[in-house]
Amino acid sequence: MMMAVNALREAAPNGNAFIIYRCKWDSQNHPCNLWIEGSRKAVGKHLNTKHGVSTTDKNNMRCLWDSCTDTVRGENMARHVMSRVHLDAKVQCLGCDGQYARGDSYQRHAESSQSCYIAGSRPLPGQSGQTVPSNAEFLLDPPSQ
Ligand SMILES: [Zn+2]
Ligand SMILES: [Zn+2]
Ligand SMILES: [Zn+2]
Repeated sequence: MMMAVNALREAAPNGNAFIIYRCKWDSQNHPCNLWIEGSRKAVGKHLNTKHGVSTTDKNNMRCLWDSCTDTVRGENMARHVMSRVHLDAKVQCLGCDGQYARGDSYQRHAESSQSCYIAGSRPLPGQSGQTVPSNAEFLLDPPSQ
């Protein structure tokens, strides 16, 4: 399946740059290496469609990201991958420059301050993240053979 950058723009409708990561899910002794947009939703969708991870499963499963040995509930796997254990993705408040590791902790912060709420936020890349300008034109997934 090819995923055009346009599909990602829908995920970032404000036209801001977005952040992508190489997938290091490794089920066959080599990492997947496809690019994934750095949002919990996109990571969950990728893990589900490409790697068969049920993102609603309450049962524990092995995390196969890189050489991780953690056991995580399927429903929490995308959050685990986004966390500082792996991608270390964060959200920065543009009102006060505060950094939040999780979207929901940022959300609580923004709701507690009107000026921060109005200022909005931007995603901060973890170490392996690549920032892609919103006008970039390329395909994230290689064409299927
Ligand atoms: Zn993958
Ligand atoms: Zn892991
Ligand atoms: Zn703030």
